Amino acid sequence: MDLLERYSDVAGREVVDHLRQLSAELRGMKVVHVNSTREGGGVAELLAKMVPMMNALGIHATWEVIEGTSAFFECTKGFHNAIQGNTVVLPEESYQEYLRINSMNAEKLEDKLRDADFVFIHDPQPAALLKNIVDRKGKWIWRCHIDCSRPYRPVWKFLRRIVSDYDASIFSTAEFVQPLPHPQYIIAPSIDPLSEKNMELSWGEVEGVRKRFDLHPDMPIILQVSRYDRFKDPVGVIAAYRIAREIVPMQLVLAGGGASDDPEGEVVLQEVKKAAAGDPNIRVLVLPPDAHRTINALQRAADIVLQKSIKEGFGLTVTEAMWKSKPVIGGDTGGIRLQVIDHYTGFRVQSPEGAALRIRYLLFNHGKRVEMGRQAKRFVRENFLLTRHLREYLALMIAVFHGFEDRIDLTRN
Ligand code: UDP
Repeated sequence: MDLLERYSDVAGREVVDHLRQLSAELRGMKVVHVNSTREGGGVAELLAKMVPMMNALGIHATWEVIEGTSAFFECTKGFHNAIQGNTVVLPEESYQEYLRINSMNAEKLEDKLRDADFVFIHDPQPAALLKNIVDRKGKWIWRCHIDCSRPYRPVWKFLRRIVSDYDASIFSTAEFVQPLPHPQYIIAPSIDPLSEKNMELSWGEVEGVRKRFDLHPDMPIILQVSRYDRFKDPVGVIAAYRIAREIVPMQLVLAGGGASDDPEGEVVLQEVKKAAAGDPNIRVLVLPPDAHRTINALQRAADIVLQKSIKEGFGLTVTEAMWKSKPVIGGDTGGIRLQVIDHYTGFRVQSPEGAALRIRYLLFNHGKRVEMGRQAKRFVRENFLLTRHLREYLALMIAVFHGFEDRIDLTRN
């Protein structure tokens, strides 16, 4: 079956027809997406699904990944932390390395970038490619996936100069929007319901994963899936578990892995292992980047999923868990607020104590867990599937392409 047809069953026929209608005007156009890692983290997860879907609609979409040195990725991780609000003082050489690597990559990608009708640059890492492509033909859009609501000013000042030259930018929530001299669009990310990460699995496969990680068959499972990153607060999750476990027995699984553009993972993993030491009911898993089915099975095996982030651009892990009908206890921040509707699809919390309280409540109330899980799945179906995401990208491309025209007639196609 053709890729798009497969989505009719999940999202509805009219949704797929609508995508075809919207894309008619964009058919044959060249679109290039650029980010800084092929695997690990939400952006890679999104692009792996978005790019084939664009192609299925007749758009020539490709995905390029920039290469960098460890000094470059140290610098861009610093940018990431600073944009999400940490005070990060970077030496001048760091900024120079950032610009040098961008100009090196621009040289390599020059032909593709110059000729493209649309270039989507994801996050700060490749943002300075633009200033190196002098005679660009198409529209360039900066897609910021991180929480930009209260950036550390000195770093943001540097980045703002770079992203100001773009034709438009995209943020995940209105909270993140910054004063910039071009149109800004709000588009929330999405999950692919047909991917290995989210497809239905047999009971046997879920049980198999439970056994593989030696999880107790009768003890509830609390799960957080995340890169080992301080903004995801894995140590806070362990603290919440320890408080909740005093009242009700449970096991905690922290599942994570690295992303090649995140140099801090190893240090945070050591902090997590230290915090978990001595408790046989905590599993700290380091999974390979393609362990999508394993993560899927863990999410299905879990009774409650946590995403106790302190800052979060969106949190695909939240959407993934909700799609599996799990109530989510999420940090009260950023993109989690779009998904975890307090007391409806889960609970939003601000501390380990708050998380512990909600864990206990849900473990004692099976009916509530089922009800919230059902609501969570419906909420994702209505708001966070790939088809909705793609529709908004297409609409944005049409809008940017037409510039300031008062009226865009889509019926011509
Ligand atoms: N993920 C994964 N393996 C891991 C940890 C995370 O495949 O060990 C996936 C996770 O399932 C989700 C994405 O990576 O699809 C993380 O996206 P999210 O938006 O939650 O966070 P980010 O890492 O982009 O900050």
